Amino acid sequence: MNFSDSEIVASIMTGDGGEICGKVEEADMIFINTCSVRDNAEQRVRKRLRELAGLKRKRPGVFVGILGCMAERLKEQLLDEEIVVDLIAGPDSYRDLPAMLAQLSMGQRAANVILSEEETYEELKPKRYNTNGVSAFISIMRGCQNFCSYCVVPYTRGAERSRNPESIVNECRDLVSEGFKEVTLLGQNVNSYLWKADGKEQDFPELLALVAKRFPGLRFRFATSHPKDLSDKLIGLIAEYANICKHIHLPAQSGSNRMLKMMNRRYTREWYIERVNTIRKSIPDVAVSTDLIAGFCSETEDDHQDTISLMRECGFEFAFMFAYSERPGTPAAGKYPDDVPLPEKKRRLKEIIDLQQALSHESNRRDVGRSFEVLVEGVSKKSDTNLFGRNGQNKVIVFPGTGQKTGEIVNVKVTGCTTATLLGTVIE
Ligand code: SAH
Ligand code: SF4
Repeated sequence: MNFSDSEIVASIMTGDGGEICGKVEEADMIFINTCSVRDNAEQRVRKRLRELAGLKRKRPGVFVGILGCMAERLKEQLLDEEIVVDLIAGPDSYRDLPAMLAQLSMGQRAANVILSEEETYEELKPKRYNTNGVSAFISIMRGCQNFCSYCVVPYTRGAERSRNPESIVNECRDLVSEGFKEVTLLGQNVNSYLWKADGKEQDFPELLALVAKRFPGLRFRFATSHPKDLSDKLIGLIAEYANICKHIHLPAQSGSNRMLKMMNRRYTREWYIERVNTIRKSIPDVAVSTDLIAGFCSETEDDHQDTISLMRECGFEFAFMFAYSERPGTPAAGKYPDDVPLPEKKRRLKEIIDLQQALSHESNRRDVGRSFEVLVEGVSKKSDTNLFGRNGQNKVIVFPGTGQKTGEIVNVKVTGCTTATLLGTVIE
């Protein structure tokens, strides 16, 4: 999401006469696009700011701006606390950046943290940079109003807004003409994408079918799906279209009904497992990944074991796993004490991570002997003669290159694996 936002900022700034600079030491204006989801993300930004203070002493003319969720969450407090920061801009105020820069050049600091109910940046053409030229992201909606009790996103990114499908189609068309082969449609909860115009409505499955049909040469992915809104219609569509990747990211957060209720996730463990079973039955060879939080408020060992058993039942291919981090201003911070001691949170998180490694390894071992279409993304970091890419399941496959180019789709037979990677050879 932030990567996609940085491309919007780059588009606005280059449209205003700026240039993207390869080295931070040479920049006149440094933007840090920030995330507030967990405290450690914010601490990393604070550390970076301390480093930039040194740079600013050497080059006093350089400006530093904080963009995104941390700017939105802390507002002017951030300017008071971090003397090195000249500008703060929330996620809906990027069009104001050129005017804010003009303010800086007049010797003032600048802030805009106004959230909008309409801003989607939809007619802006993102400036793709730092890309492999193969895969790109398209934000199809902004904001979130699910209000999961632990989560800061509804407060930092504002109300949910969906983008005009026509502008999404146009962006796909631009990407095809620039040689891109894969698009990930992004939103905090893509299942609640809804475009209303002229008395008609278009939902996420309809949008996905529209782009999949219109651009058969592109491979489509999407993230993130909220389990409460994952419809049979969407599952059917993934099964039906060859160019929709067979991978669903479905954050469970916990396997305990008591925790799910306190988290305000609005589904039960049973509902979640039923959704995963339906996905696996309806889409052969599908991969299901998830997000899990260890040590949420009042979580007991039994609650934690419910998460462990949910992981086993669902057999996730992959997971992002976190220790609960209390975020000021969220409903959980107001209502529930953050009472699982840190060493215990870490122990539970480690148990979750260890199990996921075993599940990922098992899933990879099941793939040995199978063949997959792989989109080549580049040369492997570990060996110049190996290429790497991803299959539809979003697994990385490394294989010896025999003249294939980045952006090509090749058939690869899996011959071995590690916990994180499949190894293979190209077949005709
Ligand atoms: N909209 C997506 C994800 C948004 S944030 C969804 O609903 O799934 C990405 C992940 O960060 C979440 O899925 C959750 O697992 C984690 N997360 C969010 N708030 C957190 C917190 N306060 N502490 C720890 N992890 C958190
Ligand atoms: Fe946060 Fe929940 Fe919205 Fe995801 S769905 S962004 S976890 S509030």
